[in-house]
Amino acid sequence: MHVTQPPPASLPLDQLVGVGPGTRIRLTRLELFTVQDLLFHFPIRYEDRTRITPIAALTDGTTALIQGTVTHVRGHRQQMMVDVSDGSGGATLLFFHFTPAQRAALRPGLAVRCWGDVRTGMFGAEMVHPEYQLREHADRLPPVSAQLTAVYPSTDGLPQARLRALVSQALTLIAADVDAADVDAADVDAADVDAALDGCVRAALPAAPGYLAALGEIHQPAAGTDTAALADGTHVARVRLAFEELLAQQVAVLRNRRRQKLEAAAPLTAGGDLTQVMATVTSYRLTNAQRRVVQELDHDLAAPRPMLRLVQGDVGCGKTVVAAHACLRAVRSGYQVAVMVPTEVLAEQHLLSFTTWLAPLGVRVALLLGRRPAARQREAIRARLAAGELDLIIGTQALIQSPVTFARLGLVVIDEQHRFGVRQRLALKEKGRGASGEPLAPHQLVLTATPIPRTLAQTAYADLDISLIDELPPGRLPVTTVSLPDSRREAVIARVAAACQAGRQAYWVCPLIETSAKVAAEAAEATAARLRADLPRLAIGLAHGRQPGAERAAVLAAFAAGTLSLLVATTVIEVGLDVPNASLMVIENAERLGLAQLHQLRGRVGRGRAQSHCVLLYAPPLAGHGRARLALLRATNDGFRIAEQDLALRGPGEVLGTRQTGEVRLRAADLRRDHALLPAVQALAAALLDEPGLLSTLESRWLPRGHDYVSV
Ligand code: ADP
Ligand code: MG
Repeated sequence: MHVTQPPPASLPLDQLVGVGPGTRIRLTRLELFTVQDLLFHFPIRYEDRTRITPIAALTDGTTALIQGTVTHVRGHRQQMMVDVSDGSGGATLLFFHFTPAQRAALRPGLAVRCWGDVRTGMFGAEMVHPEYQLREHADRLPPVSAQLTAVYPSTDGLPQARLRALVSQALTLIAADVDAADVDAADVDAADVDAALDGCVRAALPAAPGYLAALGEIHQPAAGTDTAALADGTHVARVRLAFEELLAQQVAVLRNRRRQKLEAAAPLTAGGDLTQVMATVTSYRLTNAQRRVVQELDHDLAAPRPMLRLVQGDVGCGKTVVAAHACLRAVRSGYQVAVMVPTEVLAEQHLLSFTTWLAPLGVRVALLLGRRPAARQREAIRARLAAGELDLIIGTQALIQSPVTFARLGLVVIDEQHRFGVRQRLALKEKGRGASGEPLAPHQLVLTATPIPRTLAQTAYADLDISLIDELPPGRLPVTTVSLPDSRREAVIARVAAACQAGRQAYWVCPLIETSAKVAAEAAEATAARLRADLPRLAIGLAHGRQPGAERAAVLAAFAAGTLSLLVATTVIEVGLDVPNASLMVIENAERLGLAQLHQLRGRVGRGRAQSHCVLLYAPPLAGHGRARLALLRATNDGFRIAEQDLALRGPGEVLGTRQTGEVRLRAADLRRDHALLPAVQALAAALLDEPGLLSTLESRWLPRGHDYVSV
């Protein structure tokens, strides 16, 4: 009988020889759990231990392999000196920490081979704490390695030699598995799949080695290999794996899309021309870009398959009102809508906007947050949702906590999606219900202000159709931005006073520079106290994340109503506040914030017709990336350009926001380095969708823990 063994790549590491509980814990610390993880644990550099250097030829400052005979052991408790001679000359090994056993073992006359850093000391060549091997005779020393020696990222108590031995076992295991498959008829398919996959990759990367060969080249490269290219990931063996990983990710995202697109959804078509209706409740006409996107949404919503659409547009372009059109369409068609946002502040803002627009049109809107409203009211809201007596619910992640059920959820809107992970989006989607309570896929509308370069967008959002709002509402003047050292604080305070006295409003942001919200809140409190002392005639409010939500909501409402002139806040206001009369933004410690965050914060002003200003206060000296970021913000208001720079400075994981949500952990690929591969990856991924064998191999190598793929 043929018993299918689990593929060796999925074996837990404690199945390898020499892995006891201690080593297992240390491997876990490196996030290495299976043989597969170990294979993708790539060296950071390599050492050339393939040649023995004659002692006489050693040069200061190099790292070298020498071999000779112990001639003399000297020293005392604190220091041991071991003289070694190889015929060409003599060298001294120096040890400052050693055990008595070590000392006893180092006897004159023994053969020794050492690897270490060479320095020229008082008595000639020296090596401090070299790695060494001792034998009775030189011919008992193991053969000199023909391969370069890998050096891995490691952790305390896990020596390089141990890691190397484990990787070597892992490589042997998977190579043996492929060999076995060649002779074992039942596994022939698996071997064919490996070969087919290698062939597919080679069609895009002609010089690429096969999967196994690539792993071998990376962990045990032959002497003479370009190790710099191996270590920085530009070597073809690394590129080959990066390509395959991106392919696996892309295929997973496309399959997810395909699966969702097969589900049934309710066509939402009632209500006629809603732009006419909405124009009666907003004070403006849509821009051409908004109008176009509303049409795209209408088109998707009318289909019996779920809409999966991302609306991208720079901060301030007016995504909310576009989403409101889709919401109204759903409600007029007899369905409920859930709007999920990442922060309570944004939820409150949306409650205000949606209520202003949609309540006069008969839409019943409510808010559901983690701890607000009070438990009894929350219960009542849930009951009304379940009974279909509410049309539109706005909330934070509280919405995906299980007790929330819907009578007939037809549309989910996710704002500022980069703050969420794919799991959260799916959890909300699962709540979709049809007219008689049967599960039905809701339409999905996702909004983001993170404009990312096209190829990257196509990869990260391959499961979504993309609409772009590439136009700001008319009459907007670009925000002017200056950066000032914090020694100019007095001048900035005077400017705040002048703006507020002229009837405008201002923000003063104290970013979260410490990791604790408590410390940030205290910093904001202290700043507010100082500003109140300096500007006694101004009405100054304070908002931060440690306030009771209702208290913060009251402050924000007062600011929105114009009763407060100046709002001192932490970054809780980063997304969500929409107060067109605010025209001055001061950001303290701006040098410590990322580009995307600064751009979002700055987007809180410039929403009205007045000229707005942003002052970036920094603590000198301004260096490196901090200087570059502030210079770029002064130079441009274009979120797209800023995102591209952000990509260059921080890498795509951060830019896409996926890193924060833990969705993606690329092992071989680095989108910053490898994005040129994406067009070929995308083409191949589409072609592979109907190749189940290849797909399952890709998945088992790269996505063993389920759907942790790059997506929204
Ligand atoms: P974002 O795209 O950043 O979410 P918002 O939806 O918050 O932007 O819109 C920013 C501001 O612009 C809001 O005050 C909104 O009411 C206003 N706005 C949106 N569309 C228009 C328009 N077509 N004309 C004038 N103002 C608009
Ligand atoms: Mg918005």
